[in-house]
Amino acid sequence: MNFIPYGKQDITQEDEALVIETLRGDWITQGPMIDRFEKSLAEYTGAKYCSALNSATSALHVACLALGVGQGDIVWTSPISFVASSNCALYCGANIDFVDIDPKTYNMSVDALSEKLAIAKKENKLPKVVIPVHLTGQSCEMKEIHKLAGEYGFKIIEDASHAIGGKYLNQPVGNCKYSDITVFSFHPVKIVTTAEGGACLTNNEELFQKISRLRTHGITKDPGLMKGESHGPWYYEQHELGFNYRITDIQAALGVSQLKRLDSYIDKRHEIAARYEEKLKSVDVELPFQHSDTYNSYHLYVVLVDAEQRLKVFNKLRSSGIGVNVHYQPIYQQPYYERFNFNPKNYPHAENYYNKAISLPMFPLLKEEEQSYICEQLKGCLS
Ligand SMILES: *Cc1c(COP(=O)(O)O)cnc(C)c1O
Repeated sequence: MNFIPYGKQDITQEDEALVIETLRGDWITQGPMIDRFEKSLAEYTGAKYCSALNSATSALHVACLALGVGQGDIVWTSPISFVASSNCALYCGANIDFVDIDPKTYNMSVDALSEKLAIAKKENKLPKVVIPVHLTGQSCEMKEIHKLAGEYGFKIIEDASHAIGGKYLNQPVGNCKYSDITVFSFHPVKIVTTAEGGACLTNNEELFQKISRLRTHGITKDPGLMKGESHGPWYYEQHELGFNYRITDIQAALGVSQLKRLDSYIDKRHEIAARYEEKLKSVDVELPFQHSDTYNSYHLYVVLVDAEQRLKVFNKLRSSGIGVNVHYQPIYQQPYYERFNFNPKNYPHAENYYNKAISLPMFPLLKEEEQSYICEQLKGCLS
């Protein structure tokens, strides 16, 4: 059996054809494919506006800036996420804090959020922005979080890097019904890819305009938005300190082509999840819980094993050629975050989860016999 990674992209001849066509075309950086990609994403999710960027990390950064996050502001997210969910606040000079996870969904706990907000209100330390992360592709309880946003006056960025193709209350994740901005990632391990890439979705035109400016140096070419008199057809204006966070037309072409298979990818991931569930039901592991309000996109399939055995099981699976992984170490444990003095005792569920979690291989091209092999090996380690 060849080495089985935990995630892997699927690039077809159709993808290659559109990428090569774009590469040979007139635009290879900012061209019509970006427009097509953005329109497809908006259409798929039902959000009004979409701005594609060169990564989800960039998207999170400009999403924070568009919501006015700056020096002295406070941003909250989940400790069980990729560091980018939290770094985006630090880029803006803001302070970061974490809300413990729900022991069943592993997403930001609504109860913990609610309690933390009540305390923060008394201490006058309310967050400006909260970033719920849809871990593994299962949506957070957005309706409840949105309700708290109304009560306490914070904005919401959904980090949906794992969750394109997933649903919440029968609506596509990314429609921003319960948030200000939703961010997707198109890194190759995610559900659909543009190599590197990300996007911000929103229903707010002003946020959309601001994000779109910030991704290209803070420059506008829209005559309707000019502050001064035009000097001629070359004229543009820089209104804020932006970045070069643009995606290329070549990458967008890959995205356009990949999006056509998004639903079939999600179906395939559900088949794989169902097979894991069947094959592992008699094995001593905790299988992922599915909240009835959500339809998971299954970017990841995480099982929990006994904490004492996790390292041994992990090493055994790796040496059997299975590319298991762990998603994620609590962000506050990272050496860079030591300066903020987070107390792990405030995050008992994140700690417990991290000590037990193992991500099993999950990607559309995973073969049935590979999956059987993975389950047999896992069973073998635990008996
Ligand atoms: C992958 C990921 C990101 C960052 O995505 P990039 O496109 O690689 O910048 C952010 N948040 C989460 C939860 C992720 O999984």
